[in-house]
Amino acid sequence: MAKPKEGKKPTNCKQCNKKLSKKKWYYRNGNYFCSKKCWKAFDAKQKQEAKKEE
Ligand SMILES: [Zn+2]
Repeated sequence: MAKPKEGKKPTNCKQCNKKLSKKKWYYRNGNYFCSKKCWKAFDAKQKQEAKKEE
């Protein structure tokens, strides 16, 4: 499995690592997701991690 290089548009969902289709990806805060559900899951995870750092 080839990993996409930094700076290049990723081809996999940041959350579930599923391959993104050209038309249906979901872009938020510099990350790409396969769906809104994955974005929400990722966002919740990030917020939890931010809480830990406080
Ligand atoms: Zn996903």
